[in-house]
Amino acid sequence: MMFGLLKQRRRLRLRAQPFPGDWMRMIERNVPFFRRLSANDQAELLGHTQVFLAEKRFEGCGGLAITDEIRMTIAAQACLLLLHRKTDYFPRLLTILVYPSAYMVEERRQIEDHVWEEGTMTRLGETGRRMGSLVLSWEAAKSGAADPSDGKNVILHEFAHQLDYENYAADGVPELATREQQLSWREVMRAEFASLRAADETGIPTLLDTYGATDSAEFFAVATEAFFERPHALCTRHPKMYAELQRYFHQNPVEYLDEKIKAN
Ligand SMILES: [Zn+2]
Repeated sequence: MMFGLLKQRRRLRLRAQPFPGDWMRMIERNVPFFRRLSANDQAELLGHTQVFLAEKRFEGCGGLAITDEIRMTIAAQACLLLLHRKTDYFPRLLTILVYPSAYMVEERRQIEDHVWEEGTMTRLGETGRRMGSLVLSWEAAKSGAADPSDGKNVILHEFAHQLDYENYAADGVPELATREQQLSWREVMRAEFASLRAADETGIPTLLDTYGATDSAEFFAVATEAFFERPHALCTRHPKMYAELQRYFHQNPVEYLDEKIKAN
């Protein structure tokens, strides 16, 4: 209990610190999403970013030296997922490993019952429930952030997995406030997942990346990317799914985009 209180107080202090101007300019430049937020949301996001930077370790891999630009780009987008919610800042995550670009991993994959395939796979990012770390390709992270409307964002994707782990299972169901919300989430997402699977098998074009048809955990990560990056289309074509995500994230990205259009 004591530790929890100290942690809360330390986080309050961190959030209240002034945000360095050059860090802010890096976020404005690399994370166009930031400008779509209201002044209040921007302030909240910068506060969360301070806590995130103080609590998580960044480590360069494959010869990459970690810079403030890398830390800001990743931290600000990860913290977009925390806005408006009571948050424990991705509690199962300690370290963010960053490679310069796509990286190779040796993988052994089961294709059929007794058939395994071994080989080198290319990856842009990954994380796992027991890993304590999250891996990103800097090149993919930066380009995913640069276009906030293409539905692809490896940072949002991998950090959505971390949210999924908050309630210990990697099942595509994050921590939901009420039993009623859990039931409605499961019902809506199960149906949406089944229809993405069916579309993937028959080759029907989909709004969601069909990588989400892999399993329910990938489905949540892919749905999160679409929720923030293609909210209008998601809201129109999958209104029930949009409503569940809106209720969980306490955010309505459709409005962020409208704000931007108004300002232009
Ligand atoms: Zn994934």
